[in-house]
Amino acid sequence: MRILRSIGLMKRELSAHRRKGRTVGFVPTMGCLHEGHLSLVRRARKETDISVVSIFVNPAQFGPKEDYLRYPRDMKRDASLCRKAGVSYIFYPDAKSMYPAGYSTYVRVRGLTENLCGRSRPSHFEGVTTVVAKLLNIIRPDRMYLGQKDAQQAIVLKRMSGDLDMDTDIVIMPTVREKDGLAMSSRNRYLSADERSAAPTIYRALQEAGVLIKSGNGDAAGIISGIRSKIRPIAAKIDYVSVVDTKELKDMKNIKGEALIAVAAWVGKTRLIDNIIVRR
Ligand code: AMP
Repeated sequence: MRILRSIGLMKRELSAHRRKGRTVGFVPTMGCLHEGHLSLVRRARKETDISVVSIFVNPAQFGPKEDYLRYPRDMKRDASLCRKAGVSYIFYPDAKSMYPAGYSTYVRVRGLTENLCGRSRPSHFEGVTTVVAKLLNIIRPDRMYLGQKDAQQAIVLKRMSGDLDMDTDIVIMPTVREKDGLAMSSRNRYLSADERSAAPTIYRALQEAGVLIKSGNGDAAGIISGIRSKIRPIAAKIDYVSVVDTKELKDMKNIKGEALIAVAAWVGKTRLIDNIIVRR
């Protein structure tokens, strides 16, 4: 495994592999890796010849009052996990080389980015689509692996790649959870012991909603208020509880076909997100 910091070198290495007919699988991350990330890595290894993990805490996707500086970083541990998982390359650029002085190009996906997390994090998705467009141009992978944990992000990136005629297939993998159901996240380490034991309530509320929907309940407002009342006691603040379609991410009134039930809530000072996809 090699750790490369230079954009130029990363491009040259991967061009050489491509010339030899090798396929490239790519897992973009912000580091502080856990089993969720590693499930994507394992799938990339299974399906492609050369696996690349990027580790880049992308300043462009954090709002001014968010946790960019505080976001956990642990390169040593990440490198060892990647080495054990059989990763070929870690791409580990610094912010100055990704956004040099004079940087002025941003990618925006309209519509899909306006609901859910886009409401409370207005510039977040523009930061995500911009950095991922750059990473896809640098790495030019055959396949990019994303987690359903960040469902809106995955749907937005899929749209971007289609709209911009990018040559990368996007594979979305299921959310990996702790034994008690809490979705794994690098931010879980911010939680105090009490907050950590309360946090699985979010997934439990989602599951209970899923059961109701599958048994025929299509009333989105009722489903949403059921979830809200279950998580209110453990949440300092509920950012949103939404039921949307999985194509345009528009709010659904009557649940029909495939629906994304998504929650963002603050547990203490930590903003957690989770979701399930159900079909009615
Ligand atoms: P992050 O490092 O949080 O930006 O996440 C990098 C990638 O890993 C994204 O595609 C996430 O959706 C994915 N990911 C994060 N947490 C999980 C999880 N618990 N299960 C599956 N994928 C995840």
